[in-house]
Amino acid sequence: MEKIAVYPGTFDPVTYGHIHILKRAAKLFDKVIMAVAADNYKKTIFTAEERIGLIEACGLQGLNNVELDIFNGLLCDYLEKKGAVAIIRGLRAISDFEYEMQMGSLNRHLNNKVETVFLMADSEYSFISSSIIKNVAVLGGNIEQFVPDKVAEALREKKENRIFS
Ligand code: ADP
Repeated sequence: MEKIAVYPGTFDPVTYGHIHILKRAAKLFDKVIMAVAADNYKKTIFTAEERIGLIEACGLQGLNNVELDIFNGLLCDYLEKKGAVAIIRGLRAISDFEYEMQMGSLNRHLNNKVETVFLMADSEYSFISSSIIKNVAVLGGNIEQFVPDKVAEALREKKENRIFS
């Protein structure tokens, strides 16, 4: 049976940290669906469609077992619909752990067939988050080393259009 995992997140915007986790997960599963959350509680500066577009611009062409999608509603229901057996999450620091443990336990209670697989962030990316990147972009800092060029460009555009400040 094909083992499918879902890598869910806000990805507002995607960073090299996300991509690194995705590539590693793609080696462990037959298929990984990177699923952009359309309606979670976080206020986003990019629409779900824009976030997908930026992920597509990340050079994932070589990853034949990766799919991109947008999902709404409960993650567990989405996994069921896709026939997925695992949720992929990245862990950067102790600060991620409490929230991730809560979500992992919750999802297991909602659907006990689902496992959450945690991949530790690479030290090179462990300090990167979408919010930190947005903060640096607003302040005019160099973000090219943390995100693909298209993402840096999109952030500059949003800043110029005062979508975020
Ligand atoms: P969410 O709102 O679901 O936390 P994010 O886009 O912030 O969405 O993160 C999606 C997933 O990617 C989370 O599991 C998060 O811990 C992980 N992640 C975010 N940044 C990094 C990074 N730099 N290295 C590894 N994992 C990361």
